[in-house]
Amino acid sequence: MTPLLVENALVIGMTREGDVVRGGAVLAEEGAIAALHGEARIRAAEIASAGKPLERLDATGLWLLPGFVQTHIHLCQTLLRNGPDDLPLLSWLSAHVFPGEAAHDEETMEISARLGLAELIAGGTTSLLDMASVRHTDAVFRAAAASGARVTSGNALMDDPASTPPHLRTTTREGLDETARLAARWHGASGGRLRVAYSPRFVLSCTEGTLRGAADRARADGLLLHTHAAESVDEARLVHERTGRSNVRYLHDAGLSGPGVVLVHVIHTDGEDRALLAARGTSVAHCPSSNLKLSSGVCPVADYRSRGIRVTLGADGAPCNDRLDALGEMRLAAQISRIAPGGRPLSAYEVVRMATADGAAALGLPDVGTLEPGKRADFVLLDPEAGFAGPTAWRDDPYGPIVWAFDRSHVTATYVDGVPLYRRGTPSPASALRPAQREVETAVEKLRRRRHP
Ligand SMILES: [Zn+2]
Repeated sequence: MTPLLVENALVIGMTREGDVVRGGAVLAEEGAIAALHGEARIRAAEIASAGKPLERLDATGLWLLPGFVQTHIHLCQTLLRNGPDDLPLLSWLSAHVFPGEAAHDEETMEISARLGLAELIAGGTTSLLDMASVRHTDAVFRAAAASGARVTSGNALMDDPASTPPHLRTTTREGLDETARLAARWHGASGGRLRVAYSPRFVLSCTEGTLRGAADRARADGLLLHTHAAESVDEARLVHERTGRSNVRYLHDAGLSGPGVVLVHVIHTDGEDRALLAARGTSVAHCPSSNLKLSSGVCPVADYRSRGIRVTLGADGAPCNDRLDALGEMRLAAQISRIAPGGRPLSAYEVVRMATADGAAALGLPDVGTLEPGKRADFVLLDPEAGFAGPTAWRDDPYGPIVWAFDRSHVTATYVDGVPLYRRGTPSPASALRPAQREVETAVEKLRRRRHP
């Protein structure tokens, strides 16, 4: 792999708020950041003077920062985009998402995942935590392996006969064993880019045996736990009726709390829940677009952060958004923090942290999320002059423009392990990954035909 020197960029390292270097440089060797700024130039000069190959990228005028980390995505749902717009969570799941997921075969699943990954990478996302469907998760991993992105995924666990549609149900044992089989095949594959997570869908779709089994096995095998929690008022009420406890408390009692656990949405919580999340070090994935589209509510992010709860960002599935755009989620997170009950406005720096370093910490990825020597060379290049985001000269820090003015049209390149996965306007792995429109249409036609109401 030829070493790569990216020079003359505004480099935003995300180790702290002041970690911003104008005219900075990043040297990537063997997929890792070998050196930054002056050290990078010295090391690059040594490589060149030794007659070894060196690729140079002049990034004058561009902003370089760690690739975005999205902590909640459903690649299996990309083909379900542009479904019904006006349903609340539980009706939307039963009318559109569950029948659509159940209609997948290996081929349509892989097309769905490829389409989602191509979009994510083109928007600057380099790492993601995905929740797959009940079946055909190998197809998601095949697409993830081909994509070059850093992907953690796992089959959705759904075994409760009272609330799970028959076409999307397994026994407790089948679901848990499927995750174990996927882990044996995919965990640590593609140079460590791929990982497997135990993924109970949500309390209402799972027996207690599945929740406890997932927690025990995940701990024993060092895998992440990923589930939805306290997303809508109706769901929170049903969980309380069924268990006599709040959603967060019930999950904690079943073993789903602490480091290595990502709870998604976590909107309807009381003071006791929040104290528990903080005390256990459980991470929250905030998905603002999804929460607004499904009328779920407003996550009290600033309150969580003031209690020391790690809050991260995700676009959720394509049909509840309908864009898998990290910069879009960042803008919306900043906006709705201003109206969250009892909150305070999130600063732009905090929001960029949530989408980079905090996301990486939630996913247990110590080698990504900031730009430091020794970490993986996962970064994104933004062009402040693309689109209509300028001028940017009114403030010294770059965080405000990134959060408030930029969107994915500002992403000009996305690198993972020092490899360009996306470069605007030129053929790249992400453009090869994207299925042809014809393939997408044929796959959607199959899903529509096979859907079970
Ligand atoms: Zn979700």
